[in-house]
Amino acid sequence: MPSQTSLPEIDLQIEMSLEGDLKVLGGVRAFLMSTSSFADLLDDFYLVLGERFVNARLYMGGRRAGARTAAALVSLFKLDPNDKPAVERLLAGVDAAIGWARYEFHLDYAARSGYVIAKNSFLAQGALEKFTANGKMTAVQAKDSFARCAMLAGYLAGLVSYLLQHEVDLQETECLALGHAACRFDVLPHRIYVTEKS
Ligand SMILES: [Zn+2]
Repeated sequence: MPSQTSLPEIDLQIEMSLEGDLKVLGGVRAFLMSTSSFADLLDDFYLVLGERFVNARLYMGGRRAGARTAAALVSLFKLDPNDKPAVERLLAGVDAAIGWARYEFHLDYAARSGYVIAKNSFLAQGALEKFTANGKMTAVQAKDSFARCAMLAGYLAGLVSYLLQHEVDLQETECLALGHAACRFDVLPHRIYVTEKS
């Protein structure tokens, strides 16, 4: 049976059934996984493949997802893409509702720069909160040894590129997993993971 989760300005339709085909946002298949399970999966990737490679892959995949999601949401909710405050509220509201993080956009549209704050990043919180063997959630560490939100950095780069109507990259400069109050992503003055064509 469909259920509705109300946000201040939008209705986010989540279709739940017992058939195992949860759908969100007008029919997109989704699933729920605990943040700790996802972090556990990533821990193995980091261990086997290394931080640099895994972060690059997560960033690039996240960036593609952010770019297409921003366009899809603006279309789905019939917003004017040029109404930047409304689009920022929509993107922040939807992603907060589905448990990714709560974003605050601090963008300078004229200068095509700025930063984004993300509170409660699921990647950072998942890395800090581990399950015990019997499945009980317990916080076992206050800090991790490296920033954990490369996928979110890429995803936000996709959203911000859509907002600025200019391709940009973001870098995480503060992370909840490193003991900061929230995660911060700065718009870089240059592109990353892109081969310049001569
Ligand atoms: Zn982070």
